[in-house]
Amino acid sequence: MKKIDRRHLLVGSAALAATCAVSATAFWPGRKGGEDSGAADITGRIFPGDGPAKPWKWSKEGFLYVKLDNQRVMCSICPNACVLAPGDRSACRSKVNIDGVLYSLAYGNPCTVNVDPVEKKPLLHFLPRSRVFSIAAAGCNFRCLNCQNWEISQMKPEELKSYEMFPPEVVKNALAAQSQAVAYTYSEAITFYEYMLDTARLARTAGLKNLLISNGYINREPLLELCKVLDGANINLKAFDDRIYRKLNGGRLEPVLNTFKTLHEQGVHFEITNLVVPGYVDDPEMVKRMCGWILANLGPDHPLHFLKFVPKYKLDRLPPTPAATLKEFRSLAMREGLHYVYIGNLDDPEGGNTYCHQCGQLLIERHGYNLPTINLKGSHCKFCRALIPGVWPPETATSAATPGAA
Ligand code: SF4
Repeated sequence: MKKIDRRHLLVGSAALAATCAVSATAFWPGRKGGEDSGAADITGRIFPGDGPAKPWKWSKEGFLYVKLDNQRVMCSICPNACVLAPGDRSACRSKVNIDGVLYSLAYGNPCTVNVDPVEKKPLLHFLPRSRVFSIAAAGCNFRCLNCQNWEISQMKPEELKSYEMFPPEVVKNALAAQSQAVAYTYSEAITFYEYMLDTARLARTAGLKNLLISNGYINREPLLELCKVLDGANINLKAFDDRIYRKLNGGRLEPVLNTFKTLHEQGVHFEITNLVVPGYVDDPEMVKRMCGWILANLGPDHPLHFLKFVPKYKLDRLPPTPAATLKEFRSLAMREGLHYVYIGNLDDPEGGNTYCHQCGQLLIERHGYNLPTINLKGSHCKFCRALIPGVWPPETATSAATPGAA
């Protein structure tokens, strides 16, 4: 792995090791950030005139865009539909218009590279105990006020210290690290779509799985192409209210719901994450509506994770989510009919373990990222033979320690 030497080294390795699929918000043109702008619609805006004059080594022409008049271009990857004149930079910061051509500036230059337990994504119904080679490049198409990874998601690729790792090297490094999958994660993978798709195609050929950890803010056409090589996903459902999406995240609800429908229709295993932000996303009635939509459109089997909010970024004055709220939401979702509901970022054995939806027996016991017990036979409950939704190894051993777990 060769380091890129850049002039602006803004992110240290400790920050880069931060986990989380939560993507983010920082400032927009004319605003330096700092105050809570929760009353405003903060949906992404472009950065006029902020692009470089020439492509660089980590530039790649965009895979999906439309050429307009006067050398303007429109990106078709996500619902932001950025229209860029020559010299402009996109809302996600990683795309620019140079002389009428749309370029990604985040192709082969991940700012974060880690090998994680799959449970950290979180993916609890996907090859338990497996190791996942995880990469992220700078940028995000959201602007969440509570971003956990703003140091990388709200930066331009040129501002970060990055690795040089083109798709063949990602695959080679993932195999050398004895990973079972490559995850596109931490910042927002949709904004480095070209890098992700090329890597995922190669990874599939090499026998690796591909995992998308994302806000789900992507158009159907690029998602369908990605689904051809995608094995699993964790998608953040940030709220079940379009107004909250606009104010808290700078996005819209409906495109995210469409992503869930497409993944479901394409048969991709996915899990849903809901970060319970106090004062924004902690209304039981909203959770009830969310569960109703999931049941009606996706069925009861996609795991749902309620995550504890930790004060961060522009919402650093909010309290953490109370444990009681998370437990109440888990009970509520299960009463509504969802089969697998988890609590994350909290030491809660019941909310972290997997229990068979049919017989109620303990299937997977978790202590952090250690999984001392797995009571599955292939994809079935060892006790009642119920089929357990997810991607499982053909035969799962019991009472083994998790390799490489922290
Ligand atoms: S992926 Fe980036 S450039 Fe493309 S539409 Fe979305 S925010 Fe704009």
